[in-house]
Amino acid sequence: MNKQWTIGKIKEFVENNSESKLLTTEYHGFSQKLLFKCTCGSNFEKTFKKFKNNNQRKCDVCQPPKAAR
Ligand SMILES: [Zn+2]
Repeated sequence: MNKQWTIGKIKEFVENNSESKLLTTEYHGFSQKLLFKCTCGSNFEKTFKKFKNNNQRKCDVCQPPKAAR
């Protein structure tokens, strides 16, 4: 029942569900790291799985990987 993601759908998801922008133009699967542009202007890499399922929708500066504090 896996939804088939295409780069177009991912781009749409990114635009609708985050303030980041998708820079990657090809999608090869969940294990691929995609390049995003954060609202702060930094580029960051993340798999779409993490972006979507773990709510990691900003760069590591704006949203550190672990809630350390
Ligand atoms: Zn940022």
